Amino acid sequence: DSTVKSMEWRAAEKELALTAHVKDAVPAQVVGDPTRLRQVLVNLLGNAIKFTDEGRVSLHVDMEADAGGDVALHFAVEDTGIGIPADKQQLIFEAFTQADGSTSRKYGGSGLGLAICARVVEMMDGHIWVESTPGRGSTFSFMRVDRDGKIRMDCSSPYAMAGLIALRDRFDVAF
Ligand code: ADP
Repeated sequence: DSTVKSMEWRAAEKELALTAHVKDAVPAQVVGDPTRLRQVLVNLLGNAIKFTDEGRVSLHVDMEADAGGDVALHFAVEDTGIGIPADKQQLIFEAFTQADGSTSRKYGGSGLGLAICARVVEMMDGHIWVESTPGRGSTFSFMRVDRDGKIRMDCSSPYAMAGLIALRDRFDVAF
């Protein structure tokens, strides 16, 4: 919670707009493993704020269900920050890799965050990728597919509404 709080504060300090857009079709309970989900979102949102000096950071959540019953949850963290050169867009998911030395001297960091995100998303049976234009911004996306609609709808769990919903409350947006 303190991580998200400090993130919100940092965004406010930089005067960035921080917004969340969650499609109506996404049930509130669709969180799977909220701890892991939150870990990835906190990392991606943290990076987006870190590497953006002007503009906005937005979280988008969408869900697609196909006729076979597979349900895909798609999360995208979009920023208007410094962007990532095409030849670095794969490398940054490796441990201890940063897009360039001067950037890391300015922004700090360990180069571990995205490697952890990639591993966690893999454990959720999903995948993660980035689309980015240097100087314009980046969108980090990850997708989690639930085969046969095996989505956990455990409303009785105190954690059922965590993750996404916690973010909603922190960012004080309606969805
Ligand atoms: P860290 O941020 O600690 O350096 P990460 O693994 O989280 O480590 O990120 C690796 C590198 O990827 C960063 O150093 C930066 O060069 C690049 N990067 C990650 N997210 C963004 C972003 N939203 N915008 C621009 N560059 C990014």
